[in-house]
Amino acid sequence: MEIFRTINPARQMARTWKARGQSVGVVPTMGFLHAGHESLIRRARAENGQVLVTVFVNPTQFSPNEDLAAYPRDLGRDLAICESLGVGAVFCPEPGEMYPPGFATQVSLPSMSQVLCGRSRPHHFQGVCTVCAKLFAITEPDRAYFGLKDAQQYFILRRMVRDLDLDLELVPCPIVREPDGLALSSRNSYLDPAERRAAPVLSRALRLAGELAANGERRARELIGAIEGTVAGEPLARLDYAQVVDTETLSEADQIESEVLVAAAMWLGRTRLIDNLIFDPGAR
Ligand code: AMP
Repeated sequence: MEIFRTINPARQMARTWKARGQSVGVVPTMGFLHAGHESLIRRARAENGQVLVTVFVNPTQFSPNEDLAAYPRDLGRDLAICESLGVGAVFCPEPGEMYPPGFATQVSLPSMSQVLCGRSRPHHFQGVCTVCAKLFAITEPDRAYFGLKDAQQYFILRRMVRDLDLDLELVPCPIVREPDGLALSSRNSYLDPAERRAAPVLSRALRLAGELAANGERRARELIGAIEGTVAGEPLARLDYAQVVDTETLSEADQIESEVLVAAAMWLGRTRLIDNLIFDPGAR
């Protein structure tokens, strides 16, 4: 497995693979890999000749008051996991390699980035879009793999890829969960034992909303009320938001008439957790 800290050799590697006729799957991550990331890597491995994983804690998607410095990191372990999963190369640049002096361009989709998590993280998705545009330009992948754990991120990037005519396929991958329902996240490592015990309330709340929708409830207000009520029953938890939005535009849906994203975020102490489900009233 190759390890690249700079852009040019990573670009050359991807080009060499493609010149050999191998398709390239890219899995962008911020490292501290867990079974959720591994599911993306396995899927990429199954669908491509070569897989390149990026490990980059992107500073521009963190606000000044967020956890950039504290974000968990373990590159040695990440590299061992990638190696064991048959990854061909890991690209793990320093911030200065991605954002050299004079860097000035931003990619943003304002209408989809100020809702849901964008309400409390106003610059987050601009940071995500810009870094992903760069990663796609560097590696020119056939496919890039994203987890639906971060569904807003996936829907925004899908729009960006369409709008900018980028020549790659985005592959959405299902959320990997702990046995008690908690969606795997690098940030789960912040939780103390009591918070960890409280954490599954978010997935429980969403599951209840999903059951209501599956049983014919089409009023978003009822689904949101069920999520609010469930999370309110957990004294350690504080709901940040619960919303129902159209998956194409991320605009709020009052009535569920097409595919929607039911998304929620909650605080447990100083840790913010997110979860969601996608519901399509037309699907059987
Ligand atoms: P991150 O390292 O948190 O930026 O995540 C990198 C990729 O892994 C993103 O596409 C995430 O959506 C995905 N991911 C993170 N957690 C999970 C999970 N529990 N299940 C599926 N994908 C995940």
